[in-house]
Amino acid sequence: MELPYAEPYKIKMVEHIKRSTQEQRLKWIQEADYNLFNLSSDKVFIDVLTDSGTGAMSDKQWAEMMIGDESYAGSSSFLKLKDTVKKITGFSYFLPTHQGRAAENVLFSALVKEGDIVPGNSHFDTTKGHIEFRKAKAVDCTIDEAFDTSNMHPFKGNVDLNKLEKVFKSYPKEKIPFVILTITCNSAGGQPLSAQNAKEVSALCKKYGIPLYFDAARFAENAYFIKKREPGYENKSIKEIAKEVFSYGDGMTMSSKKDGLVNMGGFIALNNEEVFKQATVFNIMFEGFITYGGMNGRDMGALAVGLDEATEFDYLESRVEQIAYLGQKLVDFGVPVQQPFGGHAIFLDANKKPRKHQS
Ligand SMILES: *Cc1c(COP(=O)(O)O)cnc(C)c1O
Repeated sequence: MELPYAEPYKIKMVEHIKRSTQEQRLKWIQEADYNLFNLSSDKVFIDVLTDSGTGAMSDKQWAEMMIGDESYAGSSSFLKLKDTVKKITGFSYFLPTHQGRAAENVLFSALVKEGDIVPGNSHFDTTKGHIEFRKAKAVDCTIDEAFDTSNMHPFKGNVDLNKLEKVFKSYPKEKIPFVILTITCNSAGGQPLSAQNAKEVSALCKKYGIPLYFDAARFAENAYFIKKREPGYENKSIKEIAKEVFSYGDGMTMSSKKDGLVNMGGFIALNNEEVFKQATVFNIMFEGFITYGGMNGRDMGALAVGLDEATEFDYLESRVEQIAYLGQKLVDFGVPVQQPFGGHAIFLDANKKPRKHQS
């Protein structure tokens, strides 16, 4: 078996998993009504359900756990995380939350009202949920190419500018609190959005006076794809690319369980002081005081290190190319999947029949 890369880390801890027979697994999956969410983890030998909060932390992250500061206010772990978020995203204001959907809940409580329209690129389900719960509407402006799983467009997370402008022209500005760009686009199968597209969406938003936010759960993988696929970015670092993309927006929500490389956590980062003040009220009500927002001090410390490590090229290359390796195996086997392969996942195309495989 040939692997296209060497993993840039050593493993110094193991977790035992139970072996099972194919017969046992067939019985278990039937008992679970073929729904993987119904299986207990001891019945799963190789778990590819999700990357959300399931990864191992690095030795440096664990070291940070040991020096976490659990002070209610002014925790040094909070300040470390705030500095890292500023360094990596460029955003000045920062609110920790217990996970990504909590960040959405807090920010949208401040910004989204009944009857509002929130355009974006295939909103993630919790994002859409938090919009619709407020009796507002999420409008999908993703390019058509994203919906054809065999179309090899390199940036299937891109927004169709014509679709977006049509929305801007159809509703008064006051009805559109912001546009949200999901990077990478999870619902489209971990597909990236180009820096060019972010820039163009930003310009269009400015023209119509509408703020732009990122749902940035996998912003580091998105930057990796930009480096690999977008002309002019091949010599830029992941950190430079991520910061450029964020510079086109006014703020972000984050699920730290993804590119934060921690098991639980989230945050909001912003440029606008007024929005920060409004969100602060909801953060204190729903999450906790603004210097912890539902997170332990030690976990904020681990997240600060995680954000730094997740935005390193070697790590991202091994992660994304590992996904592509699995994707290629599936394609070779005749399984229909979303292509190009996503950054964190392989999405099966359940509407297509698998090609008969000769073995
Ligand atoms: C996971 C995810 C969320 C929600 O985050 P949680 O931490 O699971 O609450 C929001 N948006 C995207 C794109 C995600 O992948």
